[in-house]
Amino acid sequence: MAEVKLESVGKVYPGNIRAVKDVNLEIANGEFLVLVGPSGCGKSTTLRMIAGLEDISEGTISIGSRVVNDLAPKDRDIAMVFQNYALYPHMTVYENMAFGLKLRRFKKPEIEQRVRKAAQLLNIEPLLDRKPKALSGGQRQRVAVGRAIVREPAAFLFDEPLSNLDAKLRVETRAELKRLHKRLQTTTIYVTHDQEEAMTLGDRIVVMSNGLVQQVDSPLAIYERPLNRFVAGFLGTPPMNFFLGRLISEQGQLCFDGAGLKVPLPERQSKRVERHAGTEVVLGVRPENVYHATESVPGAQTLELGVDVVEPLGNMMDLYLSTSTGDRLVARVKAAELDGSKRLALQLETPKIHLFDPDE
Ligand code: ADP
Repeated sequence: MAEVKLESVGKVYPGNIRAVKDVNLEIANGEFLVLVGPSGCGKSTTLRMIAGLEDISEGTISIGSRVVNDLAPKDRDIAMVFQNYALYPHMTVYENMAFGLKLRRFKKPEIEQRVRKAAQLLNIEPLLDRKPKALSGGQRQRVAVGRAIVREPAAFLFDEPLSNLDAKLRVETRAELKRLHKRLQTTTIYVTHDQEEAMTLGDRIVVMSNGLVQQVDSPLAIYERPLNRFVAGFLGTPPMNFFLGRLISEQGQLCFDGAGLKVPLPERQSKRVERHAGTEVVLGVRPENVYHATESVPGAQTLELGVDVVEPLGNMMDLYLSTSTGDRLVARVKAAELDGSKRLALQLETPKIHLFDPDE
């Protein structure tokens, strides 16, 4: 086990394609860190530089106390699990799991013991004699994880390991990976484009966009205190609502005014943005911070909104609404019978609103 450290790491691909810029991260021993962001943001490149599968154009990467910039992948004491599993089709599950150890000249009894132990941990003992083509996607995924575990590396690197599984299996396997990490406590760096996967798996999440780290923090802290509009909009389903407007002062009270909404700011927010009074601002509010007016939420602000579409989700429902200016707002509220009226009184939980710079 080891800590992994990235200092001012950057990557420029041939053709002057800038994929990653100035990434600084310290991944603690035993931590589960998730790199998340939209396709093309540089997360795989970052992981592949840690693995040694891509050259590092700038900066330093250390694993444990060693700088690994010039070390071959096999000498970095890491094990990687790929999206396509990369199993050898002509080898059995046992041979696939044993292969890396054989290459490293482990003795047969040691190999046998490690493979059996990992197979037990992953519930794949009955599959050891099968070839990959006789396995389901979920089983192949376990074998790929098993092959990483037997190595007992300093760190696991995962590159979108669940994206080839169907939705149900993905959620189950996600929980298994989390249990496995709890058990093994191996430093793990995990890449995904799926914000839900990132939120549920990571001790900390790194949100990336355009090759840059946007924010690093615990899932809850990122969700509740996004540093910018990109992070705010990327995490959460349905995504946060954004409205462009102006900060105005009315009878000594600072308000957001725009998109058909007038929202008095709570004291904490007012103090923070006082000096921007009169300027344009973007207000963000998550769908779950909008309520039926009947629920009477502390600090709430009642609004009349038009109902476009209702999506029932069982205990909750998503309301697609529009303001008087035609701006859209999504609310996730407790399921209730709507009387078919085209307008609804709703409340914004103002202590939970976010304000962003429109030029960001
Ligand atoms: P992600 O994993 O977030 O989808 P990548 O790290 O794969 O993103 O890619 C980041 C950027 O680098 C993208 O713009 C991509 O097109 C580019 N890129 C990735 N691999 C190569 C390569 N081998 N050669 C040139 N450009 C690449």
